[in-house]
Amino acid sequence: MAETDQSKKVADRYLKREVLGEGTYGVVYKAIDTRTGQTVAIKKIRLGKQKEGVNFTALREIKLLKELKDPNIIELTDAFPLKGNLHLVFEFMETDLEAVIRDRNIFLSPADIKSYIQMTLKGLAFCHRKWVLHRDMKPNNLLIGTNGQLKLADFGLARLFGSPDRRFTHQVFARWYRAPELLFGAKQYASGVDVWAAACIFAELLLRRPFLPGTSDIDQLGKIFAAFGTPTSSHWPDMVYLPDYVEYQYVPAPPLRSLFPMASDDALDLLSKMFTYDPKARISVQRALEHWYFSSSPLPTDPVKLPRPAPKSRAPDFSSQDGPTVLSPPRKSRRVMAGPESFDGNSNQEEKIDERAGEGRPTVNSADGCHVKRKLDLELRHD
Ligand code: ADP
Repeated sequence: MAETDQSKKVADRYLKREVLGEGTYGVVYKAIDTRTGQTVAIKKIRLGKQKEGVNFTALREIKLLKELKDPNIIELTDAFPLKGNLHLVFEFMETDLEAVIRDRNIFLSPADIKSYIQMTLKGLAFCHRKWVLHRDMKPNNLLIGTNGQLKLADFGLARLFGSPDRRFTHQVFARWYRAPELLFGAKQYASGVDVWAAACIFAELLLRRPFLPGTSDIDQLGKIFAAFGTPTSSHWPDMVYLPDYVEYQYVPAPPLRSLFPMASDDALDLLSKMFTYDPKARISVQRALEHWYFSSSPLPTDPVKLPRPAPKSRAPDFSSQDGPTVLSPPRKSRRVMAGPESFDGNSNQEEKIDERAGEGRPTVNSADGCHVKRKLDLELRHD
């Protein structure tokens, strides 16, 4: 689809605020949807060589993602191409699971951990039912809203825009959640990769630190083998046929209990099923949700009662009284919470999402926005 003036008008619907962070596919901005007054997060995805615009396959996939609606999936509300970048508009979320895990002021009870991992698995189960894999599960992709609801972000983006490039520093964390079949170079893989990553997140909730923080792919495999023992063909018959398979010195598995001294027997049983080497024998997300861990006492905490990092005081999002906007330079940071120090909005200096320099106050033409949005929707439908 060629980029048009009309797509710029769609962009005018959103007033750009500060950078929230830089992720795998590009910069994420906070923005205001002038039609609804809602705060949104806009992910600007670099399209590299596809300068002519977004290709049709991507549009078809985006349309599919827009249709994935579930309480535990972040909603993709809009998408538009601009200046060779694709902009994806998501509901804005307050914090993420990584911030919860790292916050030393937060005590996570066994019921709280159960609730967070249950919401993670519910979101995954919905997507696996729709035949969509995540492929980049990690705590900072699990966003948390004001009501405590956990929602999976970045669903399907790995397939759409290529696997995350781990040369970027912020991607090294993703290695810690990679399934052994991926580390052995599997080209064909299935929902089991998300189950392994969810198990790593479960372990991280229990330990309050990353469970398998490998420093290279080889070291990652070493850490996995040290935790679960070197896999043998009897554990995992297809392993030896994987492209990057090499034989490793045998190390026996320590008792799982020794790695998670505080976990309940139920939690350990589920963890061991999620950490099964052979992806064909690994428990599915649906079966994991049916595991007795979730029906045994203590029951999962009600999401609204879950502990979360204290919200930082925020300036109002959309007000003509706002002061000047300070747009933080793109950072390779993880989540940046909006606080008074980074937000000082002035409607005269608020930027439209297309960043046209020196154009002064943006004119917000929601009628045009509506029209173009419909056009984009039509294009998505007819693609
Ligand atoms: P990554 O690719 O490393 O997972 P993302 O591109 O998802 O990173 O996000 C980059 C930054 O933007 C992170 O700090 C993330 O928390 C923030 N972010 C992403 N989506 C949202 C959202 N919907 N609401 C609020 N912040 C978000």
